[in-house]
Amino acid sequence: MAKHPVPKKKAPKSQTSGRFHTYVTNVQKKLKDRIHLVPCPNCKQKHLVHHVCPNCGKYRGRQVLNMGKEIDKITKIKA
Ligand SMILES: [Zn+2]
Repeated sequence: MAKHPVPKKKAPKSQTSGRFHTYVTNVQKKLKDRIHLVPCPNCKQKHLVHHVCPNCGKYRGRQVLNMGKEIDKITKIKA
């Protein structure tokens, strides 16, 4: 005999999937609440707090990423 509690019958598929999906939605809600988005003072786009704005490339009023500028292509090779 088993010493731990054993279910008498197999749980139906709907019961199992319902439990699983409730768990998934709870986890997703928790993760969603953790993400803290703030509007950028420069472009008003929402970005992660304490991170560089991916839209304009500024952080605390300082240009960190050069977003608009194209990378200079090497046209001449010095020998
Ligand atoms: Zn911005």
